[in-house]
Amino acid sequence: MQTYHTPLDLVRERSPEHPVAIARPAAAALAARWFQDNFKGDVFYAVKANPSPWVIQALAANGVSAFDVASVPEIELVRAHAPDARLAFMHPVKSRAAIRAAYFDHGVRTFALDSQEELEKILAVTEGAKDLNLIVRLAVQAEGAAYSLAGKFGVDQHQAPSLLLAARRATQDLMGVSFHVGSQCMRPTAYNAAMAQASRALVRAGVLADVVDVGGGFPSIYPGMTPPALEDYFDAIQRGFAEMMVHETTELWCEPGRALVAEASSILTCVELRKGDALYLNDGAYGGLFDAAHARWPFPVKAIRSAGGEVREMEGALRPFRFYGPTCDAIDHMPGPFWLPEDVNEGDFIEIGMLGAYGVTMATRFNGFGAIETVACDDAPAASMFGLARRSIPSPRSEVQNVVRLSKARGRKRRKK
Ligand SMILES: *Cc1c(COP(=O)(O)O)cnc(C)c1O
Repeated sequence: MQTYHTPLDLVRERSPEHPVAIARPAAAALAARWFQDNFKGDVFYAVKANPSPWVIQALAANGVSAFDVASVPEIELVRAHAPDARLAFMHPVKSRAAIRAAYFDHGVRTFALDSQEELEKILAVTEGAKDLNLIVRLAVQAEGAAYSLAGKFGVDQHQAPSLLLAARRATQDLMGVSFHVGSQCMRPTAYNAAMAQASRALVRAGVLADVVDVGGGFPSIYPGMTPPALEDYFDAIQRGFAEMMVHETTELWCEPGRALVAEASSILTCVELRKGDALYLNDGAYGGLFDAAHARWPFPVKAIRSAGGEVREMEGALRPFRFYGPTCDAIDHMPGPFWLPEDVNEGDFIEIGMLGAYGVTMATRFNGFGAIETVACDDAPAASMFGLARRSIPSPRSEVQNVVRLSKARGRKRRKK
């Protein structure tokens, strides 16, 4: 991977025509070490947040030895870059072929499930293996996430006890519970609440769990969304764990995706046309900006201008802009608002920050676009939960309103700022 000191140097050297993902492996490394040092349990990186090889390598080189995978290609990816990693197949619905390959070809022993049917499938395909770690995914009611993951997966509270009992009986190895409070969870208490629900299900089933897996959901920083410190989340989880009925050797696991990698990448795009407050960029909803379009998610931006042989970050009075991506689909629209210098125009570059999670990995090749090359930079990310940069992103009022609108649309209670 080509390395530049900053995106300014990249623009200076070769004004890239196509979008470029800026990798900041040092940011992923710092997050990895921070989670290892502060979370009192095992950290599984949720690979789907960013499956780039440089991410797997940076995390593995900094102490992350366990990975949450959801498909055979993700298993092969992790095996290729971190051969000794411990893998947990945490997708609650898997094909028989995927279970077979995971167990027999890749040595995976940990499988999630949320139904009796999936349990029977796992047992049948692994030929009654007794060395399985079976993790029952529970549906929990959690408040405070910007992105709900409820609804699709998780056994409900009525069926949970019998499934927990069946999983307990099916393995001589570890039986555990997991849940996901929703992504970008802004409230540490969501974890205690979910753990209390898990505890009630275990008590009703009359079994003890060997693993309590609190899932992902740990937040990062976006304009108008400054979460509490991650220490507060870990404290809440410790309190929740202390109140659960578990045995002395019960393991605590977590599966962060976003929090480990959000800071570690940005995307450098170029303005191809300006129409009033609309900037037409060379990346968009079908590229690395899925969340900016579909979730109307705000991201920090900065503008870089190359003119008269000089490359500089643009300054001056800011005004709000909207973005359009390069495809011909009207959905390829990112409302922002994105605050940029008012004279930004065709040929200027826009660096969109905090896109390490659910960024490049979402890109499609629709309409012939979506090829995004990756280079490395060693400057700091736009913001950091881990002390690399400032702890919040200043946000004009309209951006905060945008987030509130977003959360209201999702039925989340408004947080007082
Ligand atoms: C997506 C996912 C995660 C990671 O979620 P984040 O909100 O990115 O931390 C963890 N566990 C499972 C099962 C997931 O599907």
